Amino acid sequence: MNEPPLGPALPSARRLAASLVGLARDLAALALPQLCPGCGVAAEPARLLCDACLERIPRLAMPLCARCLAHGREPVGCLAHPGHRVWAAWVYEERSALVVQALKYRERIGLAPGLGEELARPLRPRRARTWWSRCRSTGHD
Ligand SMILES: [Zn+2]
Ligand SMILES: [Zn+2]
Repeated sequence: MNEPPLGPALPSARRLAASLVGLARDLAALALPQLCPGCGVAAEPARLLCDACLERIPRLAMPLCARCLAHGREPVGCLAHPGHRVWAAWVYEERSALVVQALKYRERIGLAPGLGEELARPLRPRRARTWWSRCRSTGHD
């Protein structure tokens, strides 16, 4: 009577439990409307917040120097560390924290595509200018 060891079965049990939790969450999302945690009106589950709350999240229009920020110096307008320049999609405040925390701690994986779009947003105009500048200098259009 040799029984198989229990070790390899545990990861499968965990995966099954995680799948059941995900299924229950999906069913609840179908049955119950998603309400914006920022203001309580209906919102798309893939975005968590309603349009008005998403638009109220402050965005930065300029890059920051991550090196100066880490050392407690003024991060805006730094010319000394061009390799440490970063663009922040959102200022971290009450509404942006709700979205980030839902993704990180409540396993709302469906929020990831929308957050990816938000992360890419500050880079779009800069890339377009770079591409356009390159085309003009090489004679392509
Ligand atoms: Zn709202
Ligand atoms: Zn700097």
